[in-house]
Amino acid sequence: MKDLIDLHTHTTASGHAYSTLQEMICAAAGKGLSVYGCSDHAPKMPGSTHSFYFINFKVIPRLQKGIHVLMGAELNILDRTGTIDLSPATLSRVDYTIASLHTPCFAPLDEDAHTEAYLNVMKNPMVTIIGHPDDSRYPMDHRAFARAAGEYGKLVEVNNSSLVPGSPRAGAAENYADLLSFCRKYEVPVLMGSDAHYEGDVGNHQYARRLLEELDYPEELIVNTSVKRLARYIPALARQLTEE
Ligand SMILES: [Zn+2]
Ligand SMILES: [Zn+2]
Repeated sequence: MKDLIDLHTHTTASGHAYSTLQEMICAAAGKGLSVYGCSDHAPKMPGSTHSFYFINFKVIPRLQKGIHVLMGAELNILDRTGTIDLSPATLSRVDYTIASLHTPCFAPLDEDAHTEAYLNVMKNPMVTIIGHPDDSRYPMDHRAFARAAGEYGKLVEVNNSSLVPGSPRAGAAENYADLLSFCRKYEVPVLMGSDAHYEGDVGNHQYARRLLEELDYPEELIVNTSVKRLARYIPALARQLTEE
């Protein structure tokens, strides 16, 4: 399986990650990726950066070291209505977004509340990817999630860090096996993400890839294999491709 894309990565701006943007881009180029995406945590994550960080991405060249650079954000889902922590005006300046549940920003409730939160955030046209929907602390209705992801055209992340043994997102492999059975049924595309917090992990999808291979997930639904396919979800990338 070709693996050209990593859109889930964090830099020092996130407050608990340890490489600079430049170091991350160099690592991505060194690994042979075609698209590198930076998705630092939005401001409600303790220790992360101010919303101003996300409004000045225009200064960053989008072609560096021969690869496409996308500047995104990992948003926090804050409540069951799907509220997120950057304004529409700020989001108009970012290339793509990942929306995720994180315990410092959303105390686990019950299955209904988590399902509702996911379904509501999927209705937001400014959300591109749903991040690590694999966490046993946030049980949810996998069938409803997959159906809605298909309906609203969201990419479902298969998060490599969740699958690393000892991850706080326990039970991820079992949760993915069930969730992806419904994603397959509704033909929902997935995207592997490293969730790298250090340059050495950029493009590291070893556990995610193994899981997708074990589950025999259809390769045409794994978006990491095609930059063109990804561009259908990210207008900023589509523009870069037409300018080439
Ligand atoms: Zn996250
Ligand atoms: Zn992350």
